[in-house]
Amino acid sequence: MPNFDYEAPTSLESALEMLARPGEVRPLVGGTDVIDQLKSNRRNADIVIDLKRIPELLNIEANGSGLRIGSAVSCTDVHNFTAENGGYPALSESADLVGSIHIQNRASVGGNVCNAAPSADTIPALLIHEAIAHTVSASGAREIPLIDFFAGPGQTVLQKGEILKELVLPAPSANTASAYLRFIPRNEMDIAVAGVGSLIEVDPSSGVVTKARIALASVAPTPVRAYAAEEFLEGTVIDAAAIDETADLAVGSAVPITDVRGSAEYRKELIRVLTKRTLNICLERLA
Ligand SMILES: Cc1cc2nc3c(=O)[nH]c(=O)nc-3n(C[C@H](O)[C@H](O)[C@H](O)COP(=O)(O)OP(=O)(O)OC[C@H]3O[C@@H](n4cnc5c(N)ncnc54)[C@H](O)[C@@H]3O)c2cc1C
Repeated sequence: MPNFDYEAPTSLESALEMLARPGEVRPLVGGTDVIDQLKSNRRNADIVIDLKRIPELLNIEANGSGLRIGSAVSCTDVHNFTAENGGYPALSESADLVGSIHIQNRASVGGNVCNAAPSADTIPALLIHEAIAHTVSASGAREIPLIDFFAGPGQTVLQKGEILKELVLPAPSANTASAYLRFIPRNEMDIAVAGVGSLIEVDPSSGVVTKARIALASVAPTPVRAYAAEEFLEGTVIDAAAIDETADLAVGSAVPITDVRGSAEYRKELIRVLTKRTLNICLERLA
């Protein structure tokens, strides 16, 4: 393990002062990604700043306008909170898929986002629920639509000294359902070969989709929205033929690589299957 200083501030103000120090300053929450990255020299650090003791970052709350998730809230707490409060089923099920119970107890959804793995399970769910990343640094605050937060595999648009403070999701309207599914070759503790999050809002009297959001994991250098599929589905009566067409269009937004987990063609086929399945789950949830 390389040498670095370790700080565990108890206020956001002191964290921001530490984050602005010279050198490689690296935030840590659960450490489930960053500790291994430091050990294997894939990331370096002069100072590691543990954000877990900062009250504002541990807050999770929902009201009529939406859901706020502090960046240090664990996957377990996000899963439990959203399971109880409803409205964000895709997020609830994605937080429940990360690693194992032990990993979920340590790992934060904010860390999943900031680690920026194309395969990260919570990101498609956050994207379809139109999350906004609220960031903070010594020089001010920013609000970044989550789709603009990723700059490449493992890369975000965060500047030096800037951290994710919270994720803010608008309240879903009535007649909305969402779902997230991924494919891994075993039951747990594996990285998604491909993942799909879908959200639809359907007019109950006509069956017409009034809003569609589809996001894909593990099929591009960053998580992506399937815009062509969304545009096709909006304004369409949702039935088996429309779901087939939507799934074909979603495949067009995937630009996967071939690696040890699967070939590019296999990943495209997974996107087709998972898009259909998530849309059918949404319909079941709306029934
Ligand atoms: C055994 C195992 C299984 C796993 N399985 C899965 C899985 O199934 N699905 C999946 O998606 N992931 C999986 N992961 C990856 C990991 O658990 C998640 O990415 C996790 O959510 C990261 O959260 P963390 O709090 O541990 O982040 P950390 O490791 O503490 O941080 C991750 C990165 O984000 C940065 N960071 C953290 N918080 C902030 C912040 N507030 N502002 C700015 N930067 C910040 C850190 O500097 C670091 O670069 C697994 C990991 C392990 C070890």
